[in-house]
Amino acid sequence: MPPALGIVHVHSNYSHDGRDSLDALARFAVERRIAFVGLTDHAEDFSEARWREYVAECARASSDAVRLIPGLEFRFADFSGLHLLAFGLTQWIEPTTPDEFIRLASPASRATALAHPILASYEIPASVRDGIDAIEVWNATYNTRYLPDPRAFRLLHRIQRARPAVVGFAGLDQHDARNDRETRVLVHETQAHDPLGAIKRGQFENRGRTMRFDAVRGVGGAPLALLYVARWCYDRVERVQDVMVRVLRSRRGES
Ligand SMILES: [Zn+2]
Ligand SMILES: [Zn+2]
Repeated sequence: MPPALGIVHVHSNYSHDGRDSLDALARFAVERRIAFVGLTDHAEDFSEARWREYVAECARASSDAVRLIPGLEFRFADFSGLHLLAFGLTQWIEPTTPDEFIRLASPASRATALAHPILASYEIPASVRDGIDAIEVWNATYNTRYLPDPRAFRLLHRIQRARPAVVGFAGLDQHDARNDRETRVLVHETQAHDPLGAIKRGQFENRGRTMRFDAVRGVGGAPLALLYVARWCYDRVERVQDVMVRVLRSRRGES
């Protein structure tokens, strides 16, 4: 079996803010030779009955060329910005706290993950640090398609000191297939039959527009220091651009 190219952290129109049908996502994937899609629709948009329908629809929309693998993204009252992903979820679960998520999702999914840690200001409950399988070190929506998040790598390395098996991955957080932000995961050929299991075991490489990195090692040492600098410059340029756009717009408003 050849290596399997995949995309993870993907929303369909089963999410209130997702645009694409499962069939449209399957077409998007096949056009790009993507062999699997790790879906993560918003759990709050589901009931148990809708979840069952979703699982059946994912199977129906899948083919020899692409597998749509059902999964959910959970959020929790009192934990602002903390979003947890259950990739390859095999049964309906309704966790109301991060602790409950770890307890319920770990045995019921192929891999659990902390999404976009920047949104939770990198403040992660102990149960998540102690139980999560993967950290989204590059969220192509929050961190842009150009650079991963250096602070998320630092978080990953801190967690790995106690739990070396935790891995870093690049997610799309895609809600609209018209905008492909190009992050991919490439699962080793020996694991292509169980891509999300391979993600849990760290047997994959992350690829984006500007860089590639191993799931376990991530980016560290001098390259990480460089990434901090690049990120700092990029964020400043973006801010200056925003200000200029606002100034130009207000000027146009005056004339
Ligand atoms: Zn999220
Ligand atoms: Zn998401």
